[in-house]
Amino acid sequence: MRRIAILGSTGSVGTQTIDLITRAGAGSEGADFHVTALTGAQNIALLAQQARALRPDIVVTSDPSRLGDLQDALAGSGLAVAAGADAIREAASRPADIAVNAIVGAAGLVPGLTALEAGATLALANKESLVAAGPLMMRRMHETGGQILPVDSEHSAIYQALTGEDIAAVDRIILTASGGALRDWPLERLQTATVAEAMAHPNWAMGQRITIDSASMFNKALEVIEAREFFGVSPAQIEVIIHRESIIHSMVGFHDGAIMAHLGSPDMRHAIGYALNWPKRAPLPVARLDLAKTARLSFEAPDEARFPALRLAREVMAAGGLSGAVFNAAKEIALDHFIAGSIGFMQMAQLVEATLDRLSSDSGLHNDAATLEDVLAMDHLARVRATELAVGLASGLAG
Ligand code: NAD
Ligand code: MG
Repeated sequence: MRRIAILGSTGSVGTQTIDLITRAGAGSEGADFHVTALTGAQNIALLAQQARALRPDIVVTSDPSRLGDLQDALAGSGLAVAAGADAIREAASRPADIAVNAIVGAAGLVPGLTALEAGATLALANKESLVAAGPLMMRRMHETGGQILPVDSEHSAIYQALTGEDIAAVDRIILTASGGALRDWPLERLQTATVAEAMAHPNWAMGQRITIDSASMFNKALEVIEAREFFGVSPAQIEVIIHRESIIHSMVGFHDGAIMAHLGSPDMRHAIGYALNWPKRAPLPVARLDLAKTARLSFEAPDEARFPALRLAREVMAAGGLSGAVFNAAKEIALDHFIAGSIGFMQMAQLVEATLDRLSSDSGLHNDAATLEDVLAMDHLARVRATELAVGLASGLAG
């Protein structure tokens, strides 16, 4: 029996995780999985429904003002409930074999780190924690003798391609990108892109924030940094290629010239299922590829003029220190403002770049041995600066 905590259970990755463990019998007598914790935020109805089905030891909403709603929704169930960021941290600290971190944004950093320190294998969808605090996360993993398994499809693909291989034999890591909803739009049109247009992802059904990040390529930019942190390769070894079909989930090139690729349907349950069953492989309910029907796989170089996020990721990796924490925080603020309609699509990258510039001389930035407190302080400072800068951009937009 495996004890599993699902942090961010009500989101896109969270619900797909629950789909897989439910198929494996979770919630019924004698099942292979026992759910220790379920955490969510605003979708109390879904969180309560999941809790009634899976009977976790603790159910938590991140929003303290929703505690009463959660208590009402679970009245008579006998389940323990709690609310707030500290309660999520407490839930993550409970003994578990696997913790799936499917929280969106930097809010996932502390819970994921806590689960890792408590000895759980961390199935990490929350790429933001590696972007903001990669060295810290990897250091903790080594210190605790713990394990982080990537649940981003690209990084799961790379991890699988590297199994049994020597990282020293790796020449290059090739991250594939669908290009997102606006991949064929000319620059002038991108300036006017709306949230609804950015949400129309051609291949993947995901949460709102990552879908818009896919359209801006900020998602791929985060993934480049995630790959650098997780696999410990140099920035120059990481390439991005537009692959419209999303059939190849990523590739690893070795110094003998061989390239190993992971292929599959565009279904996150490939990556989630691999992490849940690691080091074994278990049957998964994903569509099997019909390669004759797929017919062709295409590749194109990304256009950094239309998608400046990729260039910014390179600059962040070159700058090192806590630049990743600034990049991620500024990106989250930029996305909030784009969703709220106060800045345009292309202004997200402008805002992130301006925030990086503004903080480039900050004494706290060049810290290669950052503690959690250092990361959280820099995350906070970057949010304050990005919010100030966003006001300037928004008035420019209005005028
Ligand atoms: P989502 O928005 O669908 O779900 C996010 C989850 O986090 C929800 O359960 C929500 O309740 C919870 N949450 C939101 N704010 C919170 C807060 N402040 N504190 C605690 N919990 C909070 O997001 P998603 O698309 O499932 O993505 C989750 C993570 O997985 C992200 O880091 C994303 O980049 C990564 N990821 C997602 C996919 C995908 O297919 N959706 C693929 C690869 C990686
Ligand atoms: Mg991905």
